[in-house]
Amino acid sequence: MADYLISGGTSYVPDDGLSAQQLFGNGDGLTYNDFLILPGYIDFTADEVDLTSALTRKISLKTPLISSPMDTVTEANMAIAMALTGGIGFMHHNCTPEFQANEVRKVKKYEQGFITDPVVMSPLHLVRDVYEAKARHGFSGIPITNNGKMGGELVGIITSRDIDFLKEEEYDLPLSEVMTKREDLVVAPAEVTLKEANEILQRSKKGKLPIVNERGELVAIIARTDLKKNRDYPLASKDSKKQLLCGAAIGTHQDDKYRLDLLVQAGVDVVVLDSSQGNSIFQVGMINYIKEKYPDLQVIGGNVVTAAQAKNLIDAGVDALRVGMGSGSICITQEAGPTVPPDIKSHSPKCASTVMGTYILACGRPQATAVYKVSEYARRFGIPVIADGGIQTVGHIAKALALGASTVMMGSLLAATTEAPGEYFFSDGIRLKKYRGMGSLDAMDKNLGSQNRYFSEADKIKVAQGVSGAVRDKGSIHRFIPYLIAGIQHSCQDIGAKSLTQVRAMMYSGELKFEKRTMSAQVEGGVHGLHSYEKRLF
Ligand code: IMP
Repeated sequence: MADYLISGGTSYVPDDGLSAQQLFGNGDGLTYNDFLILPGYIDFTADEVDLTSALTRKISLKTPLISSPMDTVTEANMAIAMALTGGIGFMHHNCTPEFQANEVRKVKKYEQGFITDPVVMSPLHLVRDVYEAKARHGFSGIPITNNGKMGGELVGIITSRDIDFLKEEEYDLPLSEVMTKREDLVVAPAEVTLKEANEILQRSKKGKLPIVNERGELVAIIARTDLKKNRDYPLASKDSKKQLLCGAAIGTHQDDKYRLDLLVQAGVDVVVLDSSQGNSIFQVGMINYIKEKYPDLQVIGGNVVTAAQAKNLIDAGVDALRVGMGSGSICITQEAGPTVPPDIKSHSPKCASTVMGTYILACGRPQATAVYKVSEYARRFGIPVIADGGIQTVGHIAKALALGASTVMMGSLLAATTEAPGEYFFSDGIRLKKYRGMGSLDAMDKNLGSQNRYFSEADKIKVAQGVSGAVRDKGSIHRFIPYLIAGIQHSCQDIGAKSLTQVRAMMYSGELKFEKRTMSAQVEGGVHGLHSYEKRLF
């Protein structure tokens, strides 16, 4: 009996699991699925976990989540929703500099409750146009301006009450004949506060309140339904003037300097130099240029996956690094399959995705290793790391953060939310939105910013590094991000860490333990042995 007793009683704890250093020490490249974090001791509730983390040297976020600068992920609506929920969105640059700057301006000028880009029609539009807009956008209170645009002179409004009792044969009537005219409208001046607007709406019992400037031009509209669901956003990411934070992507070409100027004028807080391989003379040159011209603007460099790449960008003065090469869901950069000339397309309607030429570059790094290696190096210089790409679940986010990343950037996980650009469509009865790689030929065909990410000036032939596909509807960011936040908090609780700072400290001290997962461990960790099941996550 005594033979089995080890001296020291319960104070003895065997060395169990691997430190991060050991996990990544043998030269294998690991993905998020290749390991697990061993649980620790819980003496607090999950909602006490503080997720505050650095985005850059000077900006910190209460939610460590970022929407990727992709044209099917981030425009103004997404950036606004991300900032309200405590993260940040990076406006893509596969568009004209003017369009990009304007989207940034919408985020910076955003005031809760004020809709600054509503559907607007002209008196010449027809009743059937209103029904069509209602079917597409789900509402029918539409302001009418003389030119059918925001900024035009307000001449009336169309609400359900104006058209509800019209017969089918009256659907071709122009709106001028059925709208409620300007003289019968209650409007508010541009300086109105949300509180005052609320009171006017209560008094007038109207559903919509148009806001006009001194020339009678429409500048915004306030909806009663929005006011009713007016929420508090205690985590919102704001600058010193209480405006929402907004990021934007630019390239490293000469004409990106003009783009940069417009973005700065629009109030952008941080730019990311968008390149799949950021360790280049072009990027170092651009960092130097920005730091000289706009010393207060935060600049994120990347993408990098090794410490050697990171070193050059840190030396050049970046404020954060974006890490990931070849791990994105739409990415074919690492692929080592057969090379197919870029104009040969294979198409698979069943999976709703079109593979646009599987050309290969064979460069990159499994994402978990990339995040750990770069973070471990960059922290010595106080440079935060963004783990970019390859996030499929909330567990992947927790793992990226536990490996040293300060924030996590996502494309596919946030695509197909209500706030992502593009309209929903149905395929085989499933509601979907388009999602495409910025290095897909589809995106590069626009001949704008995304080309710069994957295609240098001297290149004659485009080499596709991404695919174009579709993603299932996920509902609104306002439901999805709180689910992700709660998930990360639960992971931290299981680890036994009350904050992300503590998670990282535990990881670097070796207290946080990891374990590799065999293929069968991965099978065991998934749902198994059931005849059928439904997977609802939130
Ligand atoms: P996801 O979250 O796994 O969908 O990955 C999104 C990330 O993939 C982006 O933030 C980019 O870093 C990267 N990415 C975007 N477009 C492409 C592409 O066409 N090829 C390879 N990587 C891409």
